[in-house]
Amino acid sequence: MDCHTPGCRGEHEAGTISHSVTYQERSIVLHNVPAQICPECGDVVLAEETTIIIEDLLRRKARSKQGSFVYEP
Ligand SMILES: [Zn+2]
Repeated sequence: MDCHTPGCRGEHEAGTISHSVTYQERSIVLHNVPAQICPECGDVVLAEETTIIIEDLLRRKARSKQGSFVYEP
């Protein structure tokens, strides 16, 4: 997949990232999230399916006091 950043000629590669999100006014970090990453500029794209899984995961983990989770589909 070509990078969306103007002027960047990188091509995104599949990898995993630590992704921080704000959920119910809390900052939560998810580790091991699959993403497409540009090796040139660091631009990161999450698949729509991945964002849906993250939302579902956050809902399930909402009662936990933990500030970080490992992504698990
Ligand atoms: Zn790029």
